Amino acid sequence: MNATMVTKKLMLFFPRCECEKPIIYHLVKDHNLIVNVYRAKVTPEEEGYLVLDVTGTEADIDKAMAFVRTFNVTINYSGKGVTWDPQQCTHCGHCIVHCPTGALHIGNPKTREVAFSEKDCIECLACIRVCPFGACASAF
Ligand code: SF4
Ligand code: SF4
Repeated sequence: MNATMVTKKLMLFFPRCECEKPIIYHLVKDHNLIVNVYRAKVTPEEEGYLVLDVTGTEADIDKAMAFVRTFNVTINYSGKGVTWDPQQCTHCGHCIVHCPTGALHIGNPKTREVAFSEKDCIECLACIRVCPFGACASAF
């Protein structure tokens, strides 16, 4: 019987000296993961990060993350690279046409209130640029 495939959103923080390592290559080749990178800042001179989805079996993902940790890379499983603050949001709706995935959408058709679906966010950062009220922010 095939093991169930799951997708997890992760952030990997690289210490300065580990940024050149071909970690993604090994996640795909050695650990059978499908990798979808949303955002990356990886340069040898600085600390770096990757925001990515990995898809595979729980066992393969666990083994892959154990491998990643051997490079002194910190793994953040919350995957919260972009946040939306409902206290700051005025529900003006301006961001909705700019959001390519519908992560920001009308959550309540009666009140026209905006809602954020974190799982649909691909971290394009468009909402951060266009929100007049600073309701969307990036962790980086
Ligand atoms: S970062 Fe992009 S995908 Fe995510 S909520 Fe903002 S506009 Fe939508
Ligand atoms: S542009 Fe900003 S304030 Fe307006 S609905 Fe979007 S997140 Fe809320």
